[in-house]
Amino acid sequence: MKRPTLAGLLMTVLLFLPPLIFAPATAAVYPGRTAEKPTTVQTETSAPRRDADVVVRVWDGERVVERTLADYLPGVVSGEMPATFEPAALAAQAVAERTYIYYYLHKGPKSAHPDADVCTDPGCCSAWLDPEEARKRWGDRFEEYSARINSAVADTDGQIILYDGAPIMAVFHSSSAGATAASGQVWAADLPYLRSVASPETGDSVPNYYSVTTFSLSDFRAIFLARHPEADLSGGAEGWITDVVYDESGRVERLTVGGVTLSGVEMRSIFSLRSACFNVTAEGESVTFRVTGYGHGVGMSQYGANELARQGKTWQEILQWYYTGVTIGPAS
Ligand SMILES: [Zn+2]
Repeated sequence: MKRPTLAGLLMTVLLFLPPLIFAPATAAVYPGRTAEKPTTVQTETSAPRRDADVVVRVWDGERVVERTLADYLPGVVSGEMPATFEPAALAAQAVAERTYIYYYLHKGPKSAHPDADVCTDPGCCSAWLDPEEARKRWGDRFEEYSARINSAVADTDGQIILYDGAPIMAVFHSSSAGATAASGQVWAADLPYLRSVASPETGDSVPNYYSVTTFSLSDFRAIFLARHPEADLSGGAEGWITDVVYDESGRVERLTVGGVTLSGVEMRSIFSLRSACFNVTAEGESVTFRVTGYGHGVGMSQYGANELARQGKTWQEILQWYYTGVTIGPAS
């Protein structure tokens, strides 16, 4: 190895190609972004896996289809986030979706689809928007929106969210009411990176941020008794709902209905409310829920991510905002 020659070559590159001096900062953060070969640092550690080299088995409801991540991820981002969102929010979404897939590539498939790594059911894994369907939905904005989505995936090629060196369960939701929920508030597992954090979206930027759902007393009674036949919903409606307790994120932690104590999460499920952040009043002839935000509230808020992007945050900063104590790095 002739060091003087190498040094001389390096000097020549630096002298004649000054823009490259600034390029490595970008390349280090976005390993897949440029056509440059991987840096020495990357080749010394485990080789990053590019999206084009990773095959994922997808259950589409009828059959298992094998696709590369490069082919599959744009349809997932299109299916889960408006293409009009800020580039940093779309990139954060792409990384969250890629991480979710890697989580199951490492862990093994869900029992719902034992022969596929993920599926296209948004109630199970993530929605996937078929390119033909996207063309119909987006009309004359198809090329523009596709380019935005494709950039979000390509600019983050191979990057995932890691906690203790492993891909995280990168869940997300549409919007929160000032703060996200910790996973233990919603599900059994209390994961260290899914904590309650502040979220900046407001009713000014989120459609249907505030929603009102009203039930007649007879409908409310029938729906609740179908789930909890032991409840006593006789007498005046004013006394049906008591002891509403809120958690620190503003969601209903628990409440008592007709003598039955249940969680806000279950109440949300029973009445198909947009979130567990609600006030409820039972009086006169009806029961009214006033709900804020949309979704389970855990992990990244998509509208919050868009707001942080508007404020100038990068996709890495957005992900580290919502997923506590994580790092961003290449999948391996
Ligand atoms: Zn699934």
